Amino acid sequence: MTPLTAISTELEYVLKKEHSAEEYKNSLLGISEQTHEMINIVKTLLILAKDCEICSDSRKVFNLSHLLKNQIANEFKNDNVSIRVEDNIYLIGEADYFYMVLENIIGNAIKYSSPTDEVKVVVEDVNDMIKISIYDNGIGIPDSEKHKVFDSFYRGVNVESNGIKGYGLGLNLVRIVVNKMGGDILILDNEPKGTIFVVDMPKLIME
Ligand code: ADP
Repeated sequence: MTPLTAISTELEYVLKKEHSAEEYKNSLLGISEQTHEMINIVKTLLILAKDCEICSDSRKVFNLSHLLKNQIANEFKNDNVSIRVEDNIYLIGEADYFYMVLENIIGNAIKYSSPTDEVKVVVEDVNDMIKISIYDNGIGIPDSEKHKVFDSFYRGVNVESNGIKGYGLGLNLVRIVVNKMGGDILILDNEPKGTIFVVDMPKLIME
């Protein structure tokens, strides 16, 4: 079922008869959530269709510290996410696209963990790279799947059977944007369980 099917079903239900104010409010909240999800899918598909050309061409500069401490912290304010980043770390490229990279990896870390588990984001300045590590204590990714999860429409073998929703597009977008911006991404196992996504991005050297 796509978000559009859910929106259509919800609208049919609401329009069929009169409801209480509370019921209307709940329906609208559900429709708003599904709309947001649909917007994300369309945005992702459009970026993938163009192979994110703009990501390799862009010479814009953005403040990663600001992006994490404000937009990302705000988006995940109701989740158990901690963010450790020094002030004034800058990257080169499109901030909006890098925001989607972080949103996808952190969103997955939450989605594939239990609500009480903490998700940790740590940014380090290592030589000429900025290393962003996202730690979770969730279900983990077996070695046999680590290279497959970046393929488009790939979903882990045990996630569908566990009823965890998704379209298998997020990590495909992540890999394309990170690579086009000159970075690299790898997946490690966390201890005692879970996953660490490590994103290495070229540091902006101020002259
Ligand atoms: P989706 O989450 O919609 O299935 P993604 O492209 O974001 O698609 O991820 C692909 C697959 O990678 C997921 O189906 C899941 O099997 C696995 N995965 C991604 N992130 C995590 C994570 N933090 N922990 C465990 N599995 C993950």
